[in-house]
Amino acid sequence: MIDHFLVDEFENIVGLPYVLTDIEDMVTYSYDAAVLDPVTPLAAIMPGNSEELGQIIKICNENNLPLTIRGAGTNLSGGTIPSATGIVILTSRLNSIIEINKQDMYAVVQPGVVTATLSEAVEKKGLFYPPDPGSQAVSTLGGNIAENAGGLRGLKYGVTKDYVMGLEFFDAAGRHIKTGSKTVKCATGYNLSGLMVGSEGTLGVIDKIILKLLPLPSHRKSMVAVFNNMEQASETVAAIIANRIIPATLEILDNFTIRAVEAFSNAGLPVDAAALLLIEVDGHPAVVQEDGEKIETLCRKLGAVNIKIAANDQERDKIWAARRSALSALAKLKPTLVLEDVTVPRSRIPDMVKALQQIAKDFKIDIGTFGHAGDGNLHPTILTDKRDVKEWKRVEMAIEAIFEKALAMDGTLSGEHGTGLAKLPFLEKEVGKATIAFSQQLRKALDPNKILNPGKVTGIF
Ligand SMILES: Cc1cc2nc3c(=O)[nH]c(=O)nc-3n(C[C@H](O)[C@H](O)[C@H](O)COP(=O)(O)OP(=O)(O)OC[C@H]3O[C@@H](n4cnc5c(N)ncnc54)[C@H](O)[C@@H]3O)c2cc1C
Repeated sequence: MIDHFLVDEFENIVGLPYVLTDIEDMVTYSYDAAVLDPVTPLAAIMPGNSEELGQIIKICNENNLPLTIRGAGTNLSGGTIPSATGIVILTSRLNSIIEINKQDMYAVVQPGVVTATLSEAVEKKGLFYPPDPGSQAVSTLGGNIAENAGGLRGLKYGVTKDYVMGLEFFDAAGRHIKTGSKTVKCATGYNLSGLMVGSEGTLGVIDKIILKLLPLPSHRKSMVAVFNNMEQASETVAAIIANRIIPATLEILDNFTIRAVEAFSNAGLPVDAAALLLIEVDGHPAVVQEDGEKIETLCRKLGAVNIKIAANDQERDKIWAARRSALSALAKLKPTLVLEDVTVPRSRIPDMVKALQQIAKDFKIDIGTFGHAGDGNLHPTILTDKRDVKEWKRVEMAIEAIFEKALAMDGTLSGEHGTGLAKLPFLEKEVGKATIAFSQQLRKALDPNKILNPGKVTGIF
């Protein structure tokens, strides 16, 4: 139970309705989208502005009270599973778009702004915020930065880190830190934005964000290429990149995923196809035309049996809505879904796809594979029931085998979902002991009372 005097202090800062301590409410904040055991926090607090946020952090520090900051809780690595002796700070009320600057092409936002809300707001002004995680309809920009989220457009436009121009954040002591600026270039002081991106709430609490915007591409062309086997589709991905064509989006879906998505979304996907590539090119009309034709030719040459071009925006939106529903569609099939995000150099995509098929056979489990293939980022998705102890053991072994294959191909355990708690047991395999010790030292120096999201990313330090 949380001390009454602390509840009083929090209520004095944010107001009575914004301090939750009921056990039913706490259940809501005990889990996220990772398959991990829930942990119930002592309280959840909803600050309404920067000052309140800073004061809450100060109180946590003075009382050695662990805090986990939570956006939409959609992360897939256990990053918002709180400490049983700590509180959760919700960013849902810190949700203002403070400025969209058309002339200098940046936006200033609070951390609780939903990703798609910003995208839609800037598009109305002819501007473009490219990072578009599949969860964009609910995920927050604070969560995106803290996870360095990717998305469907990562191939051409990069990921969240490429758009962070500056940040304001609170350190563990509640001091207000500023880094970066509204200028295109900024070399003043350390690049603390770089440190904060991907820090999963363990180094500070993001309070204000300056994001780079781009001009909205004037033309787009989306297509669906149908293949009779996964190998040909994955070889086509590698070939498109090798031919120096960089589409905005280049996604792969295997048959398992296609069937699940079609049942879920009725988008008109061919359920008999062994694999689909969903491709979009954008930019100047001449480039769209030329790249689109080159991609079509390559797809056909490498085995595509059919290519459907979206005739209008409605058809285009249908394709991408279907792709964005992949995780939800697969989640309906079995009680437990484990989604991984191993990433390999793009030329190794065909090898990784083969390895995944073999792992599914070896461990006798269902794996649906889809993902941002153009980035080398696959989402092998294991469908299982965690209550089946024997099958769950095989799932754990399969996950380890997937990680080993990815690392053996010079890949990484996580292209975009972060370490959190889920990947922690495997971190050393990728980065080594010294890197973990260095990261722990950094945390010790910045957060001596160990209050910021304990246990995540580096483990206990
Ligand atoms: C259906 C679905 C599709 C997805 N698709 C993608 C995808 O395509 N690409 C991708 O990269 N991810 C994807 N994800 C994962 C997830 O949506 C992202 O990691 C997203 O960035 C999390 O945002 P959030 O607001 O939910 O953050 P949360 O889950 O609430 O938090 C994530 C981490 O950020 C920290 N955090 C949150 N706010 C702050 C803050 N203000 N200051 C400091 N730390 C903070 C938290 O403590 C936690 O460690 C998907 C998830 C789902 C469920």
